[in-house]
Amino acid sequence: MNAPAHGRIASFAVSGNELTVGGIPLTRLAARVGRTPFYAYERASLDTRVAALRASLPQQISLHYAIKANPMPALVCHMARLVDGLDVASGQELRVALDSGMDPAEISFAGPGKTPQELAQAVAAGILVNCESMREIELLAQIAGETGLSPRIALRVNPDFELKSSGMKMGGGPKQFGIDAESIPQALARLRELRLACEGFHIFSGSQNLRPQAIVEAQQKAYALAMRLAEQGAVDIRVLNLGGGFGIPYFPGEQPLDLAPIGENLATLVERARQDMPRAELVVELGRFLVGEAGIYVCRVIDRKVSRGQVYLVTDGGLHHHLSASGNFGQVIRKNYPAAIGTRMQSEQHEQVSVVGPLCTPLDLLADRMDLPAASEGDLVVIFQSGAYGASASPQGFLSHPTVLEVLV
Ligand SMILES: *Cc1c(COP(=O)(O)O)cnc(C)c1O
Repeated sequence: MNAPAHGRIASFAVSGNELTVGGIPLTRLAARVGRTPFYAYERASLDTRVAALRASLPQQISLHYAIKANPMPALVCHMARLVDGLDVASGQELRVALDSGMDPAEISFAGPGKTPQELAQAVAAGILVNCESMREIELLAQIAGETGLSPRIALRVNPDFELKSSGMKMGGGPKQFGIDAESIPQALARLRELRLACEGFHIFSGSQNLRPQAIVEAQQKAYALAMRLAEQGAVDIRVLNLGGGFGIPYFPGEQPLDLAPIGENLATLVERARQDMPRAELVVELGRFLVGEAGIYVCRVIDRKVSRGQVYLVTDGGLHHHLSASGNFGQVIRKNYPAAIGTRMQSEQHEQVSVVGPLCTPLDLLADRMDLPAASEGDLVVIFQSGAYGASASPQGFLSHPTVLEVLV
């Protein structure tokens, strides 16, 4: 295939002038969906990604999918057949995870501020709760008393280290996530008083990391921290969730994550765990890495305008559907996501264009002065790397335009 106009990205095949998804040319897919804009996620890409990851990691590592990256029910069902467990972050995500058919024993629930209702749901479902505060421990004890059910509890630890060079840091220093490592002994003592068991620890320290060495270091430190905490508190670790943070390349100059050193390190940890914590399941939980590259966002050119020499493709899609591509979801300096004109994949005639949406704000920018095939009204613009943190991470109500559709192909 020809590389898309911008970047090396995309496993999506090209047929004639059109990008295809699951073998279906884009205009046909758009007709089948019924209207634009939409997200399309490709089953084959999800399969390939998980298979490649499995090939790089030791077989003893359990692979969990963190569904907040993409909670579309059909996609979660597909992923449930590929991975060993699901991680949820709300009561609604828990319902979706249970609907997928995943064994509740392999579902875990992390996130600060869990409500009493969410905790009661979790206990009724028999899933593992990663407790983020002393309050959650007390509430789980109360629910156990009221229902006679045994809550399944692990402690989420706010570690005393950071995941270096991470897009978003979620551990180290003061954080709303987890229980500070130095307070874990106290939490374990309280669990003991309440006659509640602790199954292990969850140590998730960051997201979107492309440096294998940083991930290796974080996993080593997480392992050492869990060992120390287990020894101090006489915990027989059954589950050790080492987090994730595996990133995907979005911008020029970024390279796909090299999995080899991560796999080697995990093999070492698996070997050590055989001695140190023989009953422990070692888990990595990933969102973006599993689904991010398997999805595209598709919108249609409504208008082509030239303003003082600069070409604007005004589309029916924008930041209300795809906040991340507009640069307003965690980016410090705005950069373009890889994009293409999905209906002119072979076109030789290029021009510099800005792709914008219909919202009345200059933030509504999907591509800023990018070199793309010359397009006109009716053409389909494609934004790659859109399978994670897309629809559900965007302010769809903003300006009251139609909501985005999602299909799994
Ligand atoms: C967000 C989150 C994930 C997924 O992070 P990715 O960067 O998408 O892999 C995993 N675990 C927890 C606890 C999270 O909050």
